[in-house]
Amino acid sequence: MFNKIIAIILIFIMLASVAYGDVSNYSFDIMKDSAFSTPVYVNDSGNDGKTILIIGGVHGNEPAGFHAAEELIDYTPKNGILVVIPKANIVACNNNNRTEYYMDDLNRSFIGSESGGIAHRLAWEIVNVIKEYKPSMIIDLHESRGEYDESTGYIGQSIIISEIDSPESVDIAFLVIDKLGFTVLSGAPEGSLNKEVSETLNIPVITIETSANQELDKRVSQQLSIIKTILNYYEMED
Ligand SMILES: [Zn+2]
Repeated sequence: MFNKIIAIILIFIMLASVAYGDVSNYSFDIMKDSAFSTPVYVNDSGNDGKTILIIGGVHGNEPAGFHAAEELIDYTPKNGILVVIPKANIVACNNNNRTEYYMDDLNRSFIGSESGGIAHRLAWEIVNVIKEYKPSMIIDLHESRGEYDESTGYIGQSIIISEIDSPESVDIAFLVIDKLGFTVLSGAPEGSLNKEVSETLNIPVITIETSANQELDKRVSQQLSIIKTILNYYEMED
């Protein structure tokens, strides 16, 4: 009788683990053994679903992006896998610089190269993470000095969708317009993660640009709100 109860309990535990999947969260570093060593967090729900990669701190003086990304380092989605690189250029983030004076702008250095300067090597290692996890969508977190305005060239309060054919990006753009009233742009610059990764690997990228005119708390919550909209679209969160 007792054995039977244990067997029934074991079956319940097994069913529960099938229903909820086996969560596996781990992290590793890229640019190991250098000042630019920075962690990558992989949060695997154990359930079938999409993989989404979120990257912050490509520009170190755009803090809403890396603060939002850091909120997600322990977040396990309901389905699929979330990969988070909170501080892509960790030295620039820690110094509040767009980039460091002795290196190129990381967001003009994609697709990167193994033998290039620091920015190109960093881009190369980020691209290797992307190649390994093959996300369905990449979310690249940035900020601008002001709201979108053609006369100033500022692009805050916008999202930039890749120019590759991606009906999902268009769906998401409409959701973001509805929810936050952000402007939707396209046409990211040469050497940017958005342009080069989307065109080379055929993975859509959405760049979020909040406006530094707003308080930091508000910008972080706008970044998280758009991320949540995207995760919700992919049925990774309620
Ligand atoms: Zn930026």
